[in-house]
Amino acid sequence: MKIGGVIRTIDKLGRVVIPKSMCKALGIHADDELDVTMEGERIILQKCRNGCVFCDSTDRLVLFNGRKVCGACVESLSDMK
Ligand SMILES: [Zn+2]
Repeated sequence: MKIGGVIRTIDKLGRVVIPKSMCKALGIHADDELDVTMEGERIILQKCRNGCVFCDSTDRLVLFNGRKVCGACVESLSDMK
């Protein structure tokens, strides 16, 4: 799904209001944490995930390239050749 064509102004403190329709579509609520990433000329805002990047489990999490991966997924990935 792509929702676009919305122009917002950044205030003096660098804040921008995310359109309510986009927050609703992604289940983002007040006080949720967002991951802010720069990719080329784009700034990407993503809802923070507290679990594994693959399965959302929170069991035996380790960081790999800045992403959380659970122990089961690490083992599955280790088995891949
Ligand atoms: Zn996992």
